[in-house]
Parts: sequence; structure tokens; C-alpha cells
Amino acid sequence: MPRNAESTAFRSALEVIRGVEPRVADAIGAELADQRESLKLIASENYASPATLLAMGNWFSDKYAEGTVGRRFYAGCQNVDTVEALAAEHARELFGATHAYVQPHSGIDANLVAFWAILADRVEAPALRRAEARHVNDLTEADWFALRRELGDQRMLGMSLDAGGHLTHGFRPNISGKMFDQRSYGTDPATGLVDYDRVAEIAREFRPLVLVAGYSAYPRKVNFRIMREIADSVGATFMVDMAHFAGLVAGKVFTGDFDPVPHAHIVTTTTHKSLRGPRGGLVLCGPELADQVDRGCPMVLGGPLPHVMAAKAVALAEARRPDFADYARQVVDNAQALAEGLLRRGAKLVTGGTDNHLVLIDVTGYGLTGRQAEQALLDSGIVTNRNAVPQDPNGAWYTSGIRVGTPALTTRGLGTAEMDTTAELIHTVLSQTSAGANPDGTASKAKYVLDPALADKISRQAGDLLGGFPLYPDVELG
Ligand SMILES: *Cc1c(COP(=O)(O)O)cnc(C)c1O
Repeated sequence: MPRNAESTAFRSALEVIRGVEPRVADAIGAELADQRESLKLIASENYASPATLLAMGNWFSDKYAEGTVGRRFYAGCQNVDTVEALAAEHARELFGATHAYVQPHSGIDANLVAFWAILADRVEAPALRRAEARHVNDLTEADWFALRRELGDQRMLGMSLDAGGHLTHGFRPNISGKMFDQRSYGTDPATGLVDYDRVAEIAREFRPLVLVAGYSAYPRKVNFRIMREIADSVGATFMVDMAHFAGLVAGKVFTGDFDPVPHAHIVTTTTHKSLRGPRGGLVLCGPELADQVDRGCPMVLGGPLPHVMAAKAVALAEARRPDFADYARQVVDNAQALAEGLLRRGAKLVTGGTDNHLVLIDVTGYGLTGRQAEQALLDSGIVTNRNAVPQDPNGAWYTSGIRVGTPALTTRGLGTAEMDTTAELIHTVLSQTSAGANPDGTASKAKYVLDPALADKISRQAGDLLGGFPLYPDVELG
């Protein structure tokens, strides 16, 4: 392939778009420029390959393909079948799963598919058997009423939000919390780690139908073998949401007890975080849940997005190549180098370090809220997000933490030396920022004071750091 094929592809695409609505073409170009300039430490973001991005902009977008491969409700799906089958095959091979469902449009949607597959298998199917009915339409009004109540009366046990769990694991603002009666397990206040004995104790008392593991802000590994034993001991279905760390599973950094696939009944993930694919989700499971999972559309999903499934096939093929394992290892090496660099300079980290792709800085050590720290860093060209820490004194809005992750910068090519420089920049900004005051003199959780000259200087240093690692070096929009 000629070196400029990527430039040609993106330039031509923008030229075509510009002919219709130039402001969209401009915004796309501006987005690339912004991404090139920012030191992106958002732990849930990455940079998909040009092949993955290009696989999304085509005629597959025009197809309706409800159903599954070879069993569609619409004619003319043979090419969609090809890409959906390929994406599923790559997912099965990559993760060693017996079944993969690649239609979910996002991580939340993948979780909804999993929840309803579990409810259908564990609640609806037995009710149908009891009523000797083959289909819900065959139930009497009374049986249907009773089944709907039973579906709405199930229990879920997941990780608490302030320990790093996710809203979709049974929390009230999300539909999962309205569907399930939920309890959560936190982390040991002394170590910051998951306390498996405590999880087992809560499970024995609460007897959940579903035990969920997985997180978006926990900087350590979870032992899925132990979690499965806990689930088995109370008859729960064990589900793992690996949305954040799927890339570390794919890259064989998380193996044995830390690989969810051999231990969980069902695994969900996004495809766009550490896995570095298109924005989307997928579900992995064994043969027991496969048929229920395949009913995801139209159960809870709108029509599949064939163009995104094509891009999933491309990205999953990339993740099966040996260099993806090198990437995954580097992601963790970089997170550890970043953690060490911060610790050495006096930062306080939740759990004192990391085993994965993310670091959670407790910014109360700098006398700041997460909100103040996030904004001060942003002023200085460093893109992060604020995040609650365990038993957060500032609540879920202002928070006391800053979450930083290395998947994106690692894709760009930055290594451990650059992570030390990044730690220096972060520490400098946070140690030079002070909390602001409200007009009445009380301490503000949002206002902060940072010398604009220092913010500018750090922005320039961040830019210099990135200058050595061009993003999409083969894409020149001119
Ligand atoms: C990001 C995330 C999700 C949601 O993914 P979307 O694609 O934004 O819907 C679900 N679960 C976990 C653990 C996540 O980190």
C-alpha cells in the first residue's frame, strides 16, 4: 500500500462531505487537529486505526439486518452476514469464547443484552415450562402478569460506584437499577482492594440472581476465579463487564484467574476503549446463554449497525496480531511508570499504584477537588476526567479523584520515559493550583487559582512531548 493511501482516503472523503455541508467537513478536520494536540489521558478513550475508521463510512450503513447471520428478517443481507460472521469469529478466537454476539451498539447496550439474556434464561424460561407454554404469547393474562412481576423482582450484586463500579451495574439512575434490586460491594478501606470474603458475605445474605464484576475506575486486577466461586456458592449467574480492560484480556496481560472469559457465564465489553476498535459493544458467552443473547435485537437493541460490525471485524483482526500483545503490555508498563512518577513526586494514589491501564489520583492530597484538578489540568493542555474515590468526601459531582489512563498515549507511541515527564507535568499543575473561594469567603469546590503563565508553559511542554509522536502520521489533510 502506498504510504499516502490513508491521506488520499481521508482527504477525498472530506472533499465529498465539503460539497454538501462544509461545516461538517471542517469539524471533522478540527477534531483530528484537536486530538493531535491534546495529551489525552482519558482512560476510556483510544485512537482507532485508519482501517477501522474507514470500514465505517460506507453502504453497510444503509442495510437493515435484524436477526442473526443466515437468519435475517430482511432479504439481501449476504454481505452483512459476511462481516458479522467475521467479527464474531475474530471475537471468539481472540478471547477463546464459544459464542460472540457483535451487534450491541455500545457497552450499555451489551449489558442490557446480557441482563435480559440472564432474565430470560433464569426467570422467563422456567415460567414458560411451568405453564407448559412455548412462547410468552401463549401465557394466560394471569401468568403473564405474574411473570412480569417476577422479572422485576430480581437481585443484582455489583461493585459500588465509589470503588470504581459502573452505573449500569444496578444503580438507580440507570435502567439496570430500576430493573433490579441492587446491593453493592466496595473495597477494603485499608488496602483499597476488593475484599473477596466481604463479597461472599454480602452474596450469602443478599442471594443475587446476578453477580457482576467489572469496573471503570479500579486500578487493580480482579480475581475472576474467586468471584465465580462466590457466584456458584449462592447460585448466581456470574457476569463480567470488561469494557475498560478488554484490550488487556485480548493482549494476554490478564490471564489465568484474571481472564474473565473462562470464569464468567457471560462477558460484556465495549469495543472502543483499550480494545481500540470502533465505538460499540459485544457479548461473549457459552452455549447455555447463546440463544438468548442472540435475541438482543429486537429485545433491547435497535437494528444492527452493519458498518460498525465491519469495523469491529477489522479491529478484532488487528487485536489478534502479535503486536497487539506488545501494545497491551506497554499500556500497563506505561500506567505503572505514570503511577511511579506521580508517587515519587508525592502524589497520593488510590491503592498506591496500578496493575492495569489506569491510575486514580486522590487530589485531596493537593488540597483540591476532582473538579478543580480536572479544570486546572485542562487549562494546561492535559485531558483527564474527575472521578470519585472510595468514601469520597466531595460526592459524585465534584469528587476527589482524577482518573488517568494510558491506552490512547500508548497507541500514539509514548513509552515509560514520556510517562515520567507526564507525571511531572501533572504534579506541577496540581501542586501549583489552589482552591478558590466563594464570594462569601467559604471554600469553593469548583473555583481554583492557577497562574495562566504556568498553564501556558505546561501546555507548551505537553505539546513538545507529543511532537515526537505524531498521531496518524500517514494522514495529511493538507
Ligand atoms: C464505558 C463503560 C460502559 C458503557 O459503555 P458505552 O459504550 O458508553 O455504553 C459500560 N460498562 C463499563 C464498565 C464501562 O466502563
